[in-house]
Amino acid sequence: QGKRVDVESRIQEPGKSPRWFRRIFHPFMDETGSVVRIDGLMDETTKWKDVISRLNILATTDSLTGLPNRSLFYDRLTQAIATARRLGNMQVVLMVMDLDHFKEINDTLGHPAGDEILRQVGARLAPLLRDSDTLARLGGDEFAVLLPEVADGLQAAQKVAGHVAEALSRPFAYAGQDLYLGVGIGIALYPEHGDDVDTLMSRADLAMYSTKHKGVGPGVFQHDTTHRVANQFQLASDLRRALDRGEFVLHYQPKIGLQQGRAYGVEALIRWQHPEQGMLLPDKFIPIAERSGLIHPMTDWIIQTIAEQNRLWDIAGNGLSVALNVSASSFQNPKLLQHLHDALGNTLSTERGGRFEIEITENTLMADIGHGSRVLRQLREIGVTVAIDDFGTGYSSLAYLRRLPIHSIKLDKTFILDMVQDKTDAAIVRSTIDLAHNLGYAVVAEGVENRATLDLLFSMGCDSAQGYFLGHPIPAAEIPQWLSDFAWPSASA
Ligand code: C2E
Ligand code: CA
Ligand code: CA
Repeated sequence: QGKRVDVESRIQEPGKSPRWFRRIFHPFMDETGSVVRIDGLMDETTKWKDVISRLNILATTDSLTGLPNRSLFYDRLTQAIATARRLGNMQVVLMVMDLDHFKEINDTLGHPAGDEILRQVGARLAPLLRDSDTLARLGGDEFAVLLPEVADGLQAAQKVAGHVAEALSRPFAYAGQDLYLGVGIGIALYPEHGDDVDTLMSRADLAMYSTKHKGVGPGVFQHDTTHRVANQFQLASDLRRALDRGEFVLHYQPKIGLQQGRAYGVEALIRWQHPEQGMLLPDKFIPIAERSGLIHPMTDWIIQTIAEQNRLWDIAGNGLSVALNVSASSFQNPKLLQHLHDALGNTLSTERGGRFEIEITENTLMADIGHGSRVLRQLREIGVTVAIDDFGTGYSSLAYLRRLPIHSIKLDKTFILDMVQDKTDAAIVRSTIDLAHNLGYAVVAEGVENRATLDLLFSMGCDSAQGYFLGHPIPAAEIPQWLSDFAWPSASA
């Protein structure tokens, strides 16, 4: 045909790796237009081929875990949707996952630890999938799974999600320590929940965030999730007015000293008397307040209210210590100390020290241990004691807390609720009490719901307890009456 051609070919000799060659053929014609000669040029391109395929791998692979990256994952998801659309009767499963506690590992143990954990996560998850499935790391501590062409998407998704949760619930080893992660999982299906990549991704994310930290297993996108999110927006805007309208109230739950058999203090727990939705518990609105920054004026209000309340109780001669919960962003707030100092100043004096306590979770403290320990020291200077709340659910170990001016640790109720039946929980409680005592901390058990638990804690030498069996959170006005009615329930002790 008199045209130049350019061909690429592969040659493989037995027992050797393939080599690539590029050949260009150039025709020469006479006056009549017929080809009289062909010049050829041959060039080996094996190296180029290798470079290009390596570039390709780099562009589509997450270098840390060796898994496909976000861009390859999106390509495969696009393809899977196209195939399922053509076949007509198949579903595509998209699953997004976000690790719990990863940030704490990174912050407390450093990035090499974080990197190592991410590699281990990848290595644990990969064997759970079939060859045709894709596991990818999208970035940070986010992973995703794609199951193309499945007949029953929901069932397949739940099965894989179960395996994933199980695989990640086992401890991860790093430098001789056992680290516990958890995972939030969100599921969206083609075509039910969306028919393009962006819609499916955002809906799987939404499903994940709506279940994360609730311990309820994987979240499957539901069309009403969008409404629930709208409801959150509504709550956030109501919350802005709640403070001015005086809709918050504090309830107080007694803390009982087990040796003395009487209440020595109370914990303030906030409630929101919502005009339409009734009494809302803090889990419903504290996270919103944290995200919107409203937590700061709210914490100031709590501090004010507690200070006034305590003065009243003091006049009545009750001499209670009052604890307030301080969430992560309030603890980070540089004005916290000043506010505590201003509000409590008159009431606080060192000889009566320990009359105000703040409760912070270990994760709050660990998020920035340098800042945290400075604040703890300053709190001690103004006579405020500190309790570590929800102890056992986060990342610190008692060894980390050593040398910090902490007064007590509060064992999380998840260990207490079943400790009578569950030998492991009981063993954790017992050894934590012993270790805490050796380090000089008092131990408070929260979530004591029955007599058997109280007796067991008593026998383990636990210092104090809180829980429905001893006393529910009640309005401030009922506290004096409660104190005079309270009878120590532990006849056997
Ligand atoms: P927390 O500090 O761990 O408080 C203990 C929670 O356990 C309270 O829930 C309390 O009502 C509940 N509880 C007490 N005894 C028992 C029991 O025997 N069994 C069971 N199952 N539960 C029991 P509440 O009041 O809903 O508070 C939930 C969380 O909200 C608190 O957990 C705390 O982290 C946060 N919170 C409460 N008030 C405030 C506040 O004023 N400021 C901040 N930042 N957070 C608060
Ligand atoms: Ca608390
Ligand atoms: Ca707690």
